[in-house]
Amino acid sequence: MPYESTCMSYLRRNIDQMHGYVPGEQPKVPGLIKLNTNENPYPPSPRVAETLRGALNPRLRLYPDPSAAALREKLATRYDLPANQIVAGNGCDDILNLCVRAFCGEGDKLAYFSPSYSLYPVLADIQGSVRVELPLADDFQIEAHPALLSKLAGVKLLFITQPNAPSGVWLPRVELQRVIEETTGVVVIDEAYVDFAADNCLDFAREYPNVLVARTFSKSFALAGLRIGWATGSVELIGALNKVKDSYNVNRLSQLAAEAALDDREYFDDAIRKVKATRERTSHHLHALGFFVHQSQTNFIFAKPPAPLTARQWFEQLRARKILVRWWDADRIRDFARVSIGTDEEMNAFLEATRETLR
Ligand code: PMP
Repeated sequence: MPYESTCMSYLRRNIDQMHGYVPGEQPKVPGLIKLNTNENPYPPSPRVAETLRGALNPRLRLYPDPSAAALREKLATRYDLPANQIVAGNGCDDILNLCVRAFCGEGDKLAYFSPSYSLYPVLADIQGSVRVELPLADDFQIEAHPALLSKLAGVKLLFITQPNAPSGVWLPRVELQRVIEETTGVVVIDEAYVDFAADNCLDFAREYPNVLVARTFSKSFALAGLRIGWATGSVELIGALNKVKDSYNVNRLSQLAAEAALDDREYFDDAIRKVKATRERTSHHLHALGFFVHQSQTNFIFAKPPAPLTARQWFEQLRARKILVRWWDADRIRDFARVSIGTDEEMNAFLEATRETLR
């Protein structure tokens, strides 16, 4: 029947009505300084390239290990976790998607803090779940007061980004604990940026049967292009994720690359140290220029320019100077731009361009 005569969409109603996730720009033109998607400015450990070269052999015709056992063993050793309480994913986004499929049905409540990672509401919409937004305080901190806690009633799945994005701030453990203890559903602590922080919440996944901690190789391990994430939690929760995941969700090369990156601890520590030092130096300079800069525990900073320069003008004027940062025309965050930490050279160019925008 012709479309016009049915006046019906082929899509599920929620898919028809929703907006898809908008990823940061991956520019096609060369020569831009790319500070917009929180990638690591340094390449992955040289052991990764060496391992990948060695893996380009006839074994590529074989499916990868569906359970990523060797990778899980290495993660188990590094983080002192039982290997059977770890699941690997095609990036942390795959893990988040699996959590929605496993724990939150159509019409169930899916909660997240606002502002935080803009993928969470999109995942809720895809599933046809009911979105519950938990507002962060003005300084983007969690305040676990009774009005906020009461919103957790009946929530099946709660996403917490720790440290938070896009603000970059660390959320106090005591407040998180109160939120976790109030939630009868599953709590996923998304620690995508935690390797740039002074602390982590892995112990919550060990302690609480309803808590999962999710991580990624995209940021601290500089492997965003290979898509590797993982999660840990109770046997019951990890068992559920294993049930719903694609059998071969992490490809052969990615598994090997992640293992090689884990093996090079010295290189990892050095890259983290450099990014943190550049973050502190950049924050200091922006502050001296009159910007308000949130205290970052991540590989990006969230900063508000001094009036009369608006965040949008700052973003646009940087873009005109071939420097890409991220700005959202959204409530509560439109006065800020998010700047990923690049190399010292890149950040010097960024600071010089910022000085020009202030003149
Ligand atoms: N969580 C947060 C908070 C993120 O910012 C990102 C990266 N956009 C992810 C998860 C996804 O990371 P991955 O590249 O592993 O899918």
